[in-house]
Order: sequence, then structure tokens, then C-alpha cells
Amino acid sequence: MYDVIIIGGGPAGLTAGLYAARGGLKTLICEEKVFGGQILMSYEVDNYPGFPKGISGMDLMDNFMKQAEKFGVETNYEGIKGIEDKGKTKDVILSNGTKLNTKTIIVAAGASANKLNCPGEKKFTGKGVSYCATCDGAFFRGKPVAVVGGGDSALEEALYLANLASKVYIIHRREQLRAVKVLQERAFSNNKLEFVFNHVVKEIQGDKFVNGVLVENVKTGELSRLDVDGIFIYVGITPNTKFLEDIIELNEDGYIIVNENMETNIPGIFAAGDIRVTPLRQVLTAAADGAIAASCAQKYIERNC
Ligand code: NAP
Repeated sequence: MYDVIIIGGGPAGLTAGLYAARGGLKTLICEEKVFGGQILMSYEVDNYPGFPKGISGMDLMDNFMKQAEKFGVETNYEGIKGIEDKGKTKDVILSNGTKLNTKTIIVAAGASANKLNCPGEKKFTGKGVSYCATCDGAFFRGKPVAVVGGGDSALEEALYLANLASKVYIIHRREQLRAVKVLQERAFSNNKLEFVFNHVVKEIQGDKFVNGVLVENVKTGELSRLDVDGIFIYVGITPNTKFLEDIIELNEDGYIIVNENMETNIPGIFAAGDIRVTPLRQVLTAAADGAIAASCAQKYIERNC
């Protein structure tokens, strides 16, 4: 019997693990992919306090992991099939069918990158289509590439790619960017970046590998082609809540609804990080959520178990 099972090993899950284990709770973090979460794909994080020179997502998460492990958190690499609320205790059902019994659950499974769902995207994934500039940018040294999206991710990664590629087109469906001002200013002053506003991707084209992208002007309907060797897609995220749909209360976009204690509608089940309804999705806010969730889970156990 665990005190806390944490689903997801990103900034929220690892911080929840650190707080729970440090508080003396028997704690397990289940992560089906790689510990660290989405921020692993960021070349540089320059808004996490305490690192005035910036730090790579990978180094930051390595520190999170080491700190959680120092306090004795257990980890495994299992996916989660579902959870069952049995009142005082809960079961977490792993993808291999094993049931783990626990007093509380913290859901910190984060969110995943959205797809464009246009012709060519699937065919050329790994052959010029990428969702991670830090992972794949080096393949495009000296070559033209495109980035799709107008949010923080698109601009951050376009700026990273500008160090490698010969040119970076930013294809955005509107004229206004969604990204924060500081990123917009950096992007507008970088002469390797060229904005293609009011355009959407109609098709990703290529032979064996990507060699171009067909775009449509949303105002005139005019089609044109950009000759690029790579296309990086950053069109938002979707919360990983499919396995919770009939159990936990979600909002219309699928994010978990919690109160200020990170409590869901089910007593003993908490949520933290990008997966919950929140006005800000950052490593810092995810970590803070994780700390609150673990601390409130501990109080819940003291009162109820
Ligand atoms: P986002 O903020 O939701 O932006 C997605 C962008 O893609 C928007 O510009 C959107 O256009 C566009 N888009 C969505 N669907 C599209 C489609 N089907 N076709 C074409 N364009 C489409 O997503 P994000 O940039 O991945 O960021 C996710 C969250 O992480 C945000 O809360 C962000 O602040 C946070 N984040 C923070 C940092 C940081 O602080 N360092 C870094 C990265 C991400 P519209 O603008 O027209 O909707």
C-alpha cells in the first residue's frame, strides 16, 4: 500500500514526489515515457528563478529527478490504464494489468503536442516533420526550415533553430502572435526569421524527405509553396486525461478542475501541472502545484486514513 502514487514524471510530478517523500510518505511516481516531461524539449529555460544565465530543460529536469530520488521516491516506467476510487483507498491500474493500492493519487500526466492533421504530416514524421527543435534541429544545419504556430513554444524553438538553419519561416494563421512580448521582440529583431502571417499549412510535400510546404493565405485563398527541408509543429497542447474521462471532473477542453488545494472532485485524488485548469503553464507553476498537491495529500492522509 502506497501513501501517494503520482501519475507523470514532469516538473509537477517530480516536485510532488520530492515533497511527499521528504514528508515521510511512501511515494511512487509512474512515468510511461521519459522523466522530465515536455520541458525536456526546450533548449533553454530562461524564466525559472535561480538560474540567471538560463538552463537547458534537460539539465533542469535532471536536477529535479536527483532531488526527488535523494528523499527516497520510488519510480517506474509503466503507463496507466485507469484508476479506481474505492473510498478510503484507490487502485492505480498499470498498462500491464497490475493493480497498485494507494491512499492518495496525484495526477500530473501533463499534456501532449497537437498535430496539424494535414496531408504529409504523418508520412514525413521523422523525415523532416518534427515536434522537437532541440532533438532534431541539428539535422537542418545550413538549411531552410519552417515553424508552425504563434505561441511561446513556436517562437522559442524558432529562435533556437535560427542558430542552425539558413532561414526559419514562421507560419501563423493570424497577424497577432500569442507568445509573450519578450519573445516577440527577440523574434522580430532576428534577421533569420521570416513571418508568414495569415497562412495555414495545406500540405507537407516531399519525396523521401520533406522538400517543401504548401500554404494557403486565409484572406485571399491563394496557395504558395515554401521550399524547406524541415517543418517544426507547435500548434498547442492537449491534456493527457483520456484515461480519466468518466472518473474525474474535466472542463470542456479536457483539463482537470481543481480547487486551490489541487483537490479534484474525488476526495484523495489531486491534480497538478499542465493537466489542470490554470491561467499559466510553466515549469515554475507546475512545480508549485506539485508541492501544494503533495502537502495537501499528506494532510488528507492524516485526517482520513
Ligand atoms: P499555445 O500557447 O496554445 O499556442 C499554440 C499556437 O498554435 C497559437 O498561436 C495558435 O494560433 C496556433 N494553432 C493552434 N492550432 C492551430 C492549427 N490547427 N493550425 C495552425 N495554427 C494553430 O501553445 P504552446 O506555444 O505550445 O504553449 C503551450 C503552453 O505552454 C502555453 O501556456 C505557453 O505559455 C506555455 N509555454 C511556456 C514557455 C515558457 O514560459 N518558457 C515555453 C513554451 C510554452 P492562435 O494564436 O490563432 O490561437
